[in-house]
Amino acid sequence: MSHHEQDRRTPLVAANWKMNHLTADAREFCATFTAPGSPYAPESKAGDGRDDAAPPVETVIFPSHPLLPAVAAGLADSRAAWGGQDLHPEDSGAHTGDVSGAQLADVGCAWALAGHSERRHDHGEDDARVAAKIAAAVRHGLKVMFCLGETGDERQAERTLEVLDRQLDAALAELPADPADFAVAYEPVWAIGTGMTATPETAQEAHAHLRSRIAAERGDEVARAVRILYGGSVKPGNAGDLILQGDLDGFLVGGASLDADSFLAIIGACA
Ligand code: PEP
Repeated sequence: MSHHEQDRRTPLVAANWKMNHLTADAREFCATFTAPGSPYAPESKAGDGRDDAAPPVETVIFPSHPLLPAVAAGLADSRAAWGGQDLHPEDSGAHTGDVSGAQLADVGCAWALAGHSERRHDHGEDDARVAAKIAAAVRHGLKVMFCLGETGDERQAERTLEVLDRQLDAALAELPADPADFAVAYEPVWAIGTGMTATPETAQEAHAHLRSRIAAERGDEVARAVRILYGGSVKPGNAGDLILQGDLDGFLVGGASLDADSFLAIIGACA
């Protein structure tokens, strides 16, 4: 019996498109992703209230904001969810260029990303800002995919676990109570977009640490149920080895999620 059966955690695999794709690309992705034979084909959505047809892997697509309506239309009849890559801590107001949790919910988002290292780095988002964004997402009924991870320098200085603890504790103050309503994505910064994937053992060490800290802060039941994803140069060719690790429950995928077939292959490795 695999660890997933033991703990009954449904794998979760998410696509982070970052600042890529145009409307036509988003439409093409959704057409392939929901084509007959795909686990996310519309007919696999049970119409009779039973959950038998639920795909074995839960998925969520994070397009950039202008593509959300196209993705919402393209995935509307499927069991795939979509979400926003960012949101402002406030619900509305004078914040030019920003997007609110209400606006994400309005276009059918079920999820929001928070704490991605590119937001932390490009926009100076600190732990307090990330926590405020998580709180905003929760206010609007959005599930939160919370990202954290150490830089290469922090790993070299053997500060990895200390950094993860600091980032996790700040987020746990705001993350929802129900472990179905959030996920944690461990993304070592040195592995994102670099082709330098963490080894399965390195990822497992961080994931086990995160799960034990969640257990200490939130209790065993939440820790056993919450999905902890790995992100950092995940490809169809390395997903199968990583997913075998006991505390690794899926992936947050950047580059390899832009193509529907490649993303479906990663999902297939988790099924
Ligand atoms: C990411 O953007 O979250 C990510 C992990 O990117 P990549 O898969 O391209 O490394």
